[in-house]
Amino acid sequence: MIKEIQAKQLLSSSKIPDPWFGIKYNMNLYRGCSHQCIYCDSRSECYQIEDFTDTLVKTNALQLLPRELASKRVKGVIGTGSMNDPYAPIEKKYQLTRGALEIIEQFRFPVHILTKSDLVLRDLDYIQKINQHSQALVSFTITTSDDQLGKKVEPGAPLVSARLQAIKKLSEAGIATGVLLMPVLPFIEDNWENIRQIIEMAHQHGASYILASFGMTQRIGQQEYYYQKLDELFPGVRIKHQQRFGNDYVCPAVNADMLSKKFYSLCEDLGILTKIPYYRLQPAEKQLSLF
Ligand code: SF4
Repeated sequence: MIKEIQAKQLLSSSKIPDPWFGIKYNMNLYRGCSHQCIYCDSRSECYQIEDFTDTLVKTNALQLLPRELASKRVKGVIGTGSMNDPYAPIEKKYQLTRGALEIIEQFRFPVHILTKSDLVLRDLDYIQKINQHSQALVSFTITTSDDQLGKKVEPGAPLVSARLQAIKKLSEAGIATGVLLMPVLPFIEDNWENIRQIIEMAHQHGASYILASFGMTQRIGQQEYYYQKLDELFPGVRIKHQQRFGNDYVCPAVNADMLSKKFYSLCEDLGILTKIPYYRLQPAEKQLSLF
């Protein structure tokens, strides 16, 4: 179900950019996500999202954003896509992400888009404009090299092959783009063949970086749903998972050390970065009234 809501605030900020993605200001235009990945952390009880199958649309987001950006003293990366996908199908109708990119471009802030969708290509015009004066990064989560397995673990998201094509188009257009190889689901995706294929495919399609984390996390709320899906889709895996991890928050891939070693070695051989190109914070210019 889609619900339209009025948000009080759009951006949350951290003192220093987060070390993984370089994001200083986090922007969520939607709450809930129809990509429905079986491992999604946003289902965790701590986030208090009542029904993750609902999508809440912050219909006043594009009124809030210019006001909030105008008050920022520090220019840092605006990130979008940490608790929902900014290019889930609902974006075709509401175009909040597109509208936000237009505003971000006018305020001359850098952006890091995290997505699983090739719909991001629709907004290549704004992404390129942002990239001319600041930094625009687009990262695609890819956890399996196999479209069929992708359909099981990320049932509402575009195919992995479509994401790779989007990486190709963005990199050809001069945008730094890469892969978030995370999570790596224990007993399902944690084999070298899968990891090697992701690295090689990413490289062939022009990815300039891959950020990897070999394992997953689990919390109350998310764990129950994940178990239910394991029973439905991967019989026998839930028992192995429970025996190995119990209620641990961090669930490392079974061969995490070996995978990690081989991952860094192959990325180095292929010249792929394993960190994002970092944006250095700058003082924000005083904005004239643009809106
Ligand atoms: S795309 Fe991201 S936010 Fe959406 S369901 Fe998947 S993991 Fe969750």
